[in-house]
Amino acid sequence: MVDLLQYIKQKIAGIINQDSYKTWIEPIKFSDFSEGVFSVIVPNEFFKDWIIKNFEPLFLTILKDTVGKDVKMEYITAKEDKSEDTKKGVVYKKNVYNQFNPKYTFENFVVGSCNQFANAASLAVATNPGKTYNPLFIYGGVGLGKTHLLNAIGNFLLKHNTVSQERICYITAEVFTNELINSLKFSKMDEFRNKFRKMDVLLIDDIQFIAGKDRTQEEFFHTFNALYDNMKQVVVTSDKFPRDIENIEERLRSRFEWGLIADIQPPDIETKVAILNKKAETENIHLPLDVAFYIASRAENSVRSLEGALIRIGAYASLHNMPIDIKLASEVMGHIIKEKDREITIDLIIKEVASYFNIKTTDIKSVKRTKSIMLARQIAIYLARKLTNSSLVDIGSKFGGKDHSTVIHSIKKIEDEIKLKSDLKTIVEKIEGKLKSI
Ligand code: ADP
Ligand code: MG
Repeated sequence: MVDLLQYIKQKIAGIINQDSYKTWIEPIKFSDFSEGVFSVIVPNEFFKDWIIKNFEPLFLTILKDTVGKDVKMEYITAKEDKSEDTKKGVVYKKNVYNQFNPKYTFENFVVGSCNQFANAASLAVATNPGKTYNPLFIYGGVGLGKTHLLNAIGNFLLKHNTVSQERICYITAEVFTNELINSLKFSKMDEFRNKFRKMDVLLIDDIQFIAGKDRTQEEFFHTFNALYDNMKQVVVTSDKFPRDIENIEERLRSRFEWGLIADIQPPDIETKVAILNKKAETENIHLPLDVAFYIASRAENSVRSLEGALIRIGAYASLHNMPIDIKLASEVMGHIIKEKDREITIDLIIKEVASYFNIKTTDIKSVKRTKSIMLARQIAIYLARKLTNSSLVDIGSKFGGKDHSTVIHSIKKIEDEIKLKSDLKTIVEKIEGKLKSI
């Protein structure tokens, strides 16, 4: 249940700006959730009033969305100036760069073929910083575990005392950029530079953020060189492969390729189930295997949305005092699935595919056998099968009256070719992504 707060925080993080988040949302701690009251601990009265006035409505909306019924909030203020807490606050400010999420460890990271390489590389770096792969560049889609691995490296280093605490830095490229801007504004560039250059390990998250920001790239380039030349470990994450990040200087891009590049792919169904089981175990949620498979096969590909689904199902079950079974899971996840069905239709798919290939929708429905038209048609049929509930016969008729064997042939062809041709896979994923985001 503690994670429900984490889940809400993550949602809020995506909505408000980072400074407000750090100031107002991050310090909130979980106390209790029962009988429709969500209690949190906040540092003091002033803080409490501020939250009620500015953020409570947001909390309530997300809570209602999550657990499926109205919830009230209650605040407990941490006792005034209990030195331990105050001290913690101070320490926190001072060492803001090496506070790692204690849950993001290697032990808690479920390894499957999708992330095995990135996990092994991270572990090697954590065991032997600066000596194995430098830099280590981890890339993969949203919510697949990049931040988790960076934190795992940090936690591991601290636990084994390999590097002293002040010499490890975890920072997102966004915060790096903001700090740079502030340092420029207040003429504190020397301080800024020294701070990063004295690190033994620099973990920088979401580097794609610096794309198009020349000054940040320049500064990062020099920081990188200083560290690299002294054999200090640099680990970088990104949502894209170095070559695919647009608007980034060539000299930086090539440096990212000097060391080891490790990707994280979306998890397959078995890994998804393993992740759900592990998560359920740590959260003390009783999750039957059939429900785990049900969630795994329906949630989106990212691990974050898997976790989101599990937390919502767990919260819903405990709030309504019901056991977790497929019926409950389908009820809680229901509206996500329905929304999707409503949005993606065969006509929409045909339209998107046609526009991607720059051909007419009537071409797709025709019997023309030009290579590009045939490919577009097959992709559209494949997506129709994948993204809608239509039968083979329905699909055939929407594509200008094709019989079902043609439909099957198209689906099979694309399914097979995607496995062999990565460029085709990318095309299909792009169109699929576009359709899902409409
Ligand atoms: P990213 O930084 O790639 O967007 P995160 O590292 O924030 O993704 O991961 C999203 C959530 O999924 C986190 O709560 C993380 O702990 C969890 N997660 C991702 N991959 C795994 C995994 N292989 N095993 C366990 N939890 C995972
Ligand atoms: Mg991340």
